[in-house]
Amino acid sequence: MKEILFISDLHLSQEYPDSLARFENFSSTLPKEVGQIFLLGDVFDFWIGDDGAETLGHHKIEKQLHQISSSGVELFFLPGNRDFLVGQDFASRTGCKLLPDPSIIEIGEKRVYLTHGDALCIDDVEHQQNRSVLLSSKWRKAFLDKSIEDRLDTALRLRQKSEESKQAKPMSIMDINQPHLEEIMRENQVRTVIHGHTHKPAIHAFDLDGIEARRYVLGDWYTQNSVLTFRNGEFILE
Ligand code: MN
Repeated sequence: MKEILFISDLHLSQEYPDSLARFENFSSTLPKEVGQIFLLGDVFDFWIGDDGAETLGHHKIEKQLHQISSSGVELFFLPGNRDFLVGQDFASRTGCKLLPDPSIIEIGEKRVYLTHGDALCIDDVEHQQNRSVLLSSKWRKAFLDKSIEDRLDTALRLRQKSEESKQAKPMSIMDINQPHLEEIMRENQVRTVIHGHTHKPAIHAFDLDGIEARRYVLGDWYTQNSVLTFRNGEFILE
């Protein structure tokens, strides 16, 4: 069985050349053992619609993704709270298959619950309220109907507002809510969850109704690559 990689929170943007270089290096040196890559959100620092990729300078990243997918690696894109506007045009340009958040995949016998992760942070009520507005088809349509300049303006404003409100919040409410997670795991009959968003890479092992459960948290790419690899029947966080 080929290797499966999970990455998230690259926050790619022309403002952070280091992360861009890191991703370029990652995509051009992929080992041939890799069969699938799951991008679990916030790959881009923000997204203003598929017709705005050029404006954001993301043409090169799209080309790199296309190279990966055309080399035979299956690429999946599950959106995050920053790049939830990624759509079908992006998917056809890059060869990514879009996945809804959450998605359940099967790896061997294992059912694995994939999510960006912000939906699990239910203690952050403000974020959840904003999330339901931004993910509504009404907001999406109204936003995408605007000019690219207006959209860029709004996106930058939203990003700043989110940064400011994050600084005012206690760390604890910005992490996942464990009882809520366990409820979701029971409902979906999964014992393995993979997510990003919190930028706190870790492997959490816990007992769920007498069965060993695992939550894998992917790290961001601000200072180094963070990759979860499924290799020889095991998950390895590097
Ligand atoms: Mn996020």
